[in-house]
Amino acid sequence: MSQRPEENLLSTLPVERHVILRTKLLEWYAEKGRHWIPWKLKADGTSAGSGEAIDPYRIWIAEVMLQQTQLKTMFPYWEKWIKTFPTLFDLANADQQEVLLVWQGLGYYSRARRIHQSSMILLDAIGDTKSLDPNQWPKDLEFWIALPGIGRSTAGSIISSAFDCPSPILDGNVKRVFSRLIACSRPVESVTNRFWCLSEQLLDKQSPRKFNQALMDLGAMVCKPRNPTCLTCPWQKHDCIAYSSGKPNHFPVKASSKSVPYEVIGVGVVLNADGEVLIDQRHDQGLLGGLWEFPGGKKEHGEGIQETIARELREELGIEIEVADLLVDFEHLYSHKRLRFVVHLCNWIAGTPQPFASQKVQWVDPNSLGEFPFPAANAKMIRALNEYLRGDKSSKSH
Ligand code: SF4
Repeated sequence: MSQRPEENLLSTLPVERHVILRTKLLEWYAEKGRHWIPWKLKADGTSAGSGEAIDPYRIWIAEVMLQQTQLKTMFPYWEKWIKTFPTLFDLANADQQEVLLVWQGLGYYSRARRIHQSSMILLDAIGDTKSLDPNQWPKDLEFWIALPGIGRSTAGSIISSAFDCPSPILDGNVKRVFSRLIACSRPVESVTNRFWCLSEQLLDKQSPRKFNQALMDLGAMVCKPRNPTCLTCPWQKHDCIAYSSGKPNHFPVKASSKSVPYEVIGVGVVLNADGEVLIDQRHDQGLLGGLWEFPGGKKEHGEGIQETIARELREELGIEIEVADLLVDFEHLYSHKRLRFVVHLCNWIAGTPQPFASQKVQWVDPNSLGEFPFPAANAKMIRALNEYLRGDKSSKSH
């Protein structure tokens, strides 16, 4: 069977082309790169020299935050995190709830729980005092990959950024750039191994920290997901096939899209005679683990939403309630499904709440809800509840 053109390119990209691409990228980075990123600088705000170590703690937290979030979004969270947990020791000794509160709003909460677990492993491996010295941290790729929530690209980025180790990276930005560079006609998921080879071949072994950062900056600043600014790209005149084809936006080729499931969720905001509201804490394992929420569940076929709420609260908490007015009704899009939340105020009638489907259940003063980490969708419910309690009944906006 004959090979597609990009297969030839992937397996036999000539060394002379590696050199040109590498040199042009590093020249561009020297002039245009994001040299201001704080976790990529030394404590005194200056750039590290070749082979010099930078604080891996700040880099590690940033790299995990960047896994599913853009830099401009995660930046204030990173600053808050470093202020709250300035060292590995502070993080490892923090309560999980405190960690989730600082993460609240960034999404994909398992990342926060895994960072917390990893902090204890790292502290055990390095020791309290030594953890303040970047040179005492592990430089071994395998060590980092073995930590919860760290894949090969994140590990490579951490050790190349912190220690200038020659470890390639392949995050979403880099995959997109490579896909365009060679005009790859297949979805990136099916050519990952080959892209890893390309990243390794192109890597500047003398300046891996700079090279990887340059690659990430190119993806974030020039070869952007939509409308790449090819005229400012250092690779435009040097072999970018997608650019030559006149259709850079056609790459990466997408895998056939699956339809996103849609569900309706009935939620009860239950108040008791003392004006307290009922919340429960999700199990640590699984989606949104460890976060608090208002109780509820999926509407069954043929069921009215008020019946759903009464049934869910009976099954999951063992309580009887009266379902009252609609509080708020809105849709929320997750990466894998779309949910419509129909939220009703409820009056508690009978039964002591039990955590049958959660790890904890608690009556709390509505004014103290800010002390508990909630998923993003619940923020709208809290806002609507606050408006209702202030006497503003117009909070049923979508
Ligand atoms: S020339 Fe355009 S498509 Fe090609 S790598 Fe540069 S920005 Fe991306």
